[in-house]
Amino acid sequence: TIAFWNGDYLPLDEIRVSPLDRGFLFADGLYEVAAAYQGRLFEPQAHIRRLQRGLAELRIDTGWSDADWLTLMEEMLRRSGLQGDQAVYIQVTRGASTSRGHAFPAGVKPTVFAMPSALKRPPESWRSGGVAAITTPDIRWSRCDLKTVGLLGSVLAQQKAVEQGVVDAIQLRDGLVTEGAATNVFVVRDGAIATPKADHRILPGITRAVVLEIAAEAGTPVAERDVAANELATADEVWITSTSKEVTAVTRIDGRPVGTGKPGPVWTAIDARFQQRIGR
Ligand code: PLP
Repeated sequence: TIAFWNGDYLPLDEIRVSPLDRGFLFADGLYEVAAAYQGRLFEPQAHIRRLQRGLAELRIDTGWSDADWLTLMEEMLRRSGLQGDQAVYIQVTRGASTSRGHAFPAGVKPTVFAMPSALKRPPESWRSGGVAAITTPDIRWSRCDLKTVGLLGSVLAQQKAVEQGVVDAIQLRDGLVTEGAATNVFVVRDGAIATPKADHRILPGITRAVVLEIAAEAGTPVAERDVAANELATADEVWITSTSKEVTAVTRIDGRPVGTGKPGPVWTAIDARFQQRIGR
């Protein structure tokens, strides 16, 4: 695999990271993952906007323009040698300093890393039967709107899901649904869609934004609002969304069926439009 490392294109296994890189020491950095379907990036500007906003919030100054990020993503696709659908991973850290200290070091240059991979799309069984999930307390910090590489809360949530043989862990904070381990959550009741509003408690997912757009186009009532934890039990449908999981119906939560226990009609309608948007 060819990867990007601070200006060079190198084989992934030749890249060496400094132990003083602040990404390593402090998780002082951000990442992005974008999909490309048959060579075409999906919503690249939205990913770039989210990255640039995060970098500005953390005061990491790369000097890179939106066009520079787009070029990087396209170069990754071009140089990957992969056929078919791909994912591009980008990571930016505050950089490698000369000593360890919490506050921003002076004169440090951000580390920019990117790598391509084959995009693993949701299996057919997820589309026909949906997936199972558990709920788990949201133990993360209070700036979940930033896509930081500090992912330990999500790591532990995802591991708990794996150990229970399910696909995702829906996180709950103060009696409300926040999001999955690496997904946004939607609920449907009586034909109306709801999803937690995009504040500091969740990552503003690009897939989430596309689903909100699609729902509005389709004329389906949709609200961004607080979603109570107990709405998961009374919903007709629950979905999770992300770049890699697309729009996936959750048909069991904590061992109990959601609605009929099958992907519902609102999911079917929204997913059909989503598949169209990604060129399927
Ligand atoms: N929420 C979290 C915590 C995530 O890590 C992700 C993606 O990795 C998402 C939501 C979904 O975001 P997107 O649709 O942009 O992939």
